Amino acid sequence: GKKKKGKDDVDDEREIEPVSFQGPINGQEVNLKAHAKLVEAGLVRAKDVVTDAMSLRADSLKVEPKGPGGLVTIYIDGIPQSGGKLSKAETLAVTQVMKLVAGLDSKERQAAQAGGLKAEFEGKKYLLRVSTSAVPEGERLMVRIQDTSQKLETLTEMGMGEPMRQRLREILVKPGVILAIGPPGSGTTTTMFGLLKNVDSYQYTVFIMVDPGGRTLFGVSSYDDKPAGESLEDSLVRLGRKEANVILVEPVKSAGVAKPVFGKAENLTLISEMPAKDTATAVTQLVQLVGDAGVVANGLKALVTQKMLRRLCPSCKSPYRPKPDFLKKLGLDESVKTLYRVPPPPEDPKEQIEPCEKCGDVGYFGRVAMFEVLEVTPGIQELIQKGGDPTALREQIKKEKQITLQKDGLRLVAEGVTSLEELQRVFKPA
Ligand SMILES: [Zn+2]
Repeated sequence: GKKKKGKDDVDDEREIEPVSFQGPINGQEVNLKAHAKLVEAGLVRAKDVVTDAMSLRADSLKVEPKGPGGLVTIYIDGIPQSGGKLSKAETLAVTQVMKLVAGLDSKERQAAQAGGLKAEFEGKKYLLRVSTSAVPEGERLMVRIQDTSQKLETLTEMGMGEPMRQRLREILVKPGVILAIGPPGSGTTTTMFGLLKNVDSYQYTVFIMVDPGGRTLFGVSSYDDKPAGESLEDSLVRLGRKEANVILVEPVKSAGVAKPVFGKAENLTLISEMPAKDTATAVTQLVQLVGDAGVVANGLKALVTQKMLRRLCPSCKSPYRPKPDFLKKLGLDESVKTLYRVPPPPEDPKEQIEPCEKCGDVGYFGRVAMFEVLEVTPGIQELIQKGGDPTALREQIKKEKQITLQKDGLRLVAEGVTSLEELQRVFKPA
């Protein structure tokens, strides 16, 4: 079993109960007996790997073949660190077992698969999202660990400021297209569902046409009785007849999705997501997909993008007084008297400082998102009509003083949620 130092007595070692796997979220029955050989080869090891990651409060873990064996990487608040090595046989067995307990096909090793399972660890409920994909040396396993009591589902929980959330609420109830955009893995899907949760579902009729991925959505109907082979355009017409006001549709990745979505933008609020580098380039992509700049200019209401930052540890963050001209240079209000940072090392290196128990002296604990909303104002609309040149759009965004990621990140610095150093880290070119 795994051992960890006890809280009160450093000499005493306490056994950690391994994580318990409690069934796939797709509702499938997992027949462990039918896979006895695989279970024997990999279940204990798989639980060890997941338990180790969870006891370090990792948000995800990766297992991949490397050379003669396999590597485990764990991510704590998005920062990767080594989670140890596995033998080749263990790497394979752990990957196949995780597919099995997530209700996926453990024998399929070529096609990418995604699913999830419920789990419990140290008395808390978790959702483990499991995905696999083929890599040159075999197969890569990703497990995203979500503490279901620590919800990051609404825009407020994600860290969005109240004025921005209110503005989006106004935009969301008018017909038009609103997209969450960003590079893959940047939190776009979470933002998309956050936008949906920002709609008052008592007042408006809301439908979703995608799998909510284990999220609880109140007052939202899923389009269950969709006839096989019905086109997206026909589905939107049918939901319109069911008096839908707001519909969440599949990701906008092709003209086949973009065209019908923008075709219905006059009567419905359509929420979706699209992979894109940033808001300005997303506009250009949309014009290309839809094939008509005028249709995009009229139908698009807003683009929302997000970037994750680490939160300063509430137990050990250290206040300091910034100089007024420094605040001015950053564009922060002079009324900000105190900023926070990771505690600096003691001036006298011989001085002993108690390590922080909450964050293990990392200085950060948990994550928060900063947001950018590109609202399609008359000025932006005019530029989209001309084809949506990204450079011209960026200039206009600046001129209109719209909220950019940088600006919103500085808000979180001013509020003491994160540090300037962390903000600089995430904007550093990779
Ligand atoms: Zn701390």
